[in-house]
Amino acid sequence: MTFTAKVITTSEWGANAPKAGTFPFRRTIPQYVIVHHTAHKADPNPPNDSSKGTIEGAMDLAKTFQNSHMNVNGWSDSGHNFLNTTGGFILEGRHGSLDAVKKGECIQSAHAAQDPGKLPNGNRSPGIENEGNFMNFSMIDKQWESLVELCASLCDSCNISPKDIRGHRDFSNTQCPGDWLYNQLPRLRKDVANKLGLQFTPDELENDSPVVNLKVGSTGLPVIKLQEKLREKGFNPGAADGIFGENTLKAVKEFQRSVGIKDDGIVGPNTRKLLGL
Ligand SMILES: [Zn+2]
Repeated sequence: MTFTAKVITTSEWGANAPKAGTFPFRRTIPQYVIVHHTAHKADPNPPNDSSKGTIEGAMDLAKTFQNSHMNVNGWSDSGHNFLNTTGGFILEGRHGSLDAVKKGECIQSAHAAQDPGKLPNGNRSPGIENEGNFMNFSMIDKQWESLVELCASLCDSCNISPKDIRGHRDFSNTQCPGDWLYNQLPRLRKDVANKLGLQFTPDELENDSPVVNLKVGSTGLPVIKLQEKLREKGFNPGAADGIFGENTLKAVKEFQRSVGIKDDGIVGPNTRKLLGL
């Protein structure tokens, strides 16, 4: 296990201590690397980036986030594990994160909690905040290179496949890490794989949307898509409100009976395929 990315530790950037009684944080076995954007002000991108590409600016930004996470959000410490700034500086977020990943573990973060209908275990995996808003804005090369370097180190030391580099939106109902950056994840996986001497087919590097079972209680965009598809097929799930309730359940069961499969009301891989989802 090797971790070669240069990381500015919490003690180096002068972090405050975590809230009393919360440290050391829970250690987990990571499954993914999770990419975020900070989107912390109206225009956080160069030339209006907070850190201005400098190391002093990067350390100030880390302090700003820690203060905001602890004093506004009420969290125990910085929410993220790592911060990647526009100058290509990588800073440790939550205390203990660097030590943990060097041992193939993770400090559970406050980010990427699981929303219904989404992939589980987001906040058990190392999360990287990237300074900027990447809905429309693209990342400058210096920041991209440090992101690749950090992801490669995390994948190598934590035994995570580059295919498992994911965006926050895979776990939670959010726009994070922005459309541009989310759509760049196949390139990120490829650059990381190259750095590690691994090869994958283009298909393997794509953003395949996570397949999770939808059932009563599921919510969000995947449920809206399901409801629209049911209606398209002539079944009535009620309004396409993104809530899997009694009407959606009834429509799913009717669809399942109509195609001759068990009407368990759970939209798993088989039902999904037959629906054309
Ligand atoms: Zn995020």
